[in-house]
Formats: sequence, C-alpha cells, structure tokens
Amino acid sequence: MKKILIGTHNIGKFKEISFLLKKNIKKISPKLLNIKSPKETGKSFSANAKLKAKYFSKFTKLPVISDDSGLCIKALKGKPGIFSARYAKKYGSFDKAMKFILKKMKNKKDRSAVFVCSLTYISNRENIVSVTGKIKGSISYKIKGSHGFGYDPIFIPFLKSVTFGQMSKNKKMKMDHRYIAFKKLKKRIKIL
Ligand code: IMP
Repeated sequence: MKKILIGTHNIGKFKEISFLLKKNIKKISPKLLNIKSPKETGKSFSANAKLKAKYFSKFTKLPVISDDSGLCIKALKGKPGIFSARYAKKYGSFDKAMKFILKKMKNKKDRSAVFVCSLTYISNRENIVSVTGKIKGSISYKIKGSHGFGYDPIFIPFLKSVTFGQMSKNKKMKMDHRYIAFKKLKKRIKIL
C-alpha cells in the first residue's frame, strides 16, 4: 500500500488532506513517527509550505505533503495571514483570536477576506511541486457555527450566506482553499 506523510500537526488540516487523498493511500502523521514541527520562518505561504515539506522529508523516505495556510483580511492589511496559527497562540485560543478580529473589524466597511492554502509535495527529496489555492469571502459579524476548525466560524465564502463553521464538513472540504490547491496538485502528481 502506498504511504504518504501528511506534514502537519493540525488535526483539522490532517483530516481535510486525508479526505482529499485517494483511499488506497495510507496517511501517516508526523506524530506517529515522533517528528515535531519546524519553525515557520518563511515570509509567504508557499515558502512555509516548502520549508515544512523539506523538513519532514529529512526524517522519512516517504513522500510528504505539507500545507501552509491562513486567513488574510483586507481591512487588517492582510492579517493574520501567515501568522494565523500564531495569532491564536498569542490570544490564547481561536475563540479569543476570532473575538479580537471581530472587535477590530467593528467599524470596517470592507469585510472582504481570503483564505489561502499552499501545498507542497515532495518525493525522493528532489521532486518538489508547490501550488496555491484561494477562496474569497467576507468576515461575519458574529462567530457562527461549530463545525470545522480554526477561523471557520467567522468566514463566509463568496456567494454563500453562512460561515464555513455552519457548513457540514463535507461541503466545506469540497470548496475551500485546500481543495482548490489540491485539485491543482492532483493534476501534476497523478498518484494522489
Ligand atoms: P499554519 O499553516 O500551520 O501556520 O496554520 C494555519 C492556521 O490558519 C491554522 O491553524 C488555522 O488557524 C488557519 N486555517 C488554515 N486553514 C483553515 C481552514 O480551512 N479553516 C479555518 N482555519 C484555517
């Protein structure tokens, strides 16, 4: 059976990427191999996705797929952006980070935002492919919904009237930034 290391400790991401990969691929987590996460020193989603893939592939001969993603809010000059996970750490939880964002957005007319996901696939430590997917939308006025993970409860995708957090997992996973990036990756890496 084919195996792929999904280079993330984020359970939400791991589940989404597992769902997207073919059923006949065994999905391995870094936790299983006792590998910690690298420091995210890149200045872009794609730099961080590459950095993670290269890092994880040092510990295994398996192909690796890694993800760097986040929410960019126009009125907040693109924040939290590549610092999306670190924002939640800084404020204590995703709930607190979302409350902080909603407070900052209180008087903003432009609530547009975009979720971005860069995926990197690496095999044999040489063959590296990186892609990026984006989904546009807006920031809700309240935290809504309990599905999904991270900032899902404050993001309303374009042309929809509910947040990702209010959608079923299946519906969200078939339209989000990770799905869009994955479709691009699948075109280039057939085994996925
Ligand atoms: P990183 O890529 O490990 O730096 O973490 C990205 C962070 O962005 C995650 O911890 C989430 O907070 C957020 N994020 C990325 N993708 C999603 C998503 O699909 N839904 C909600 N939050 C997300």
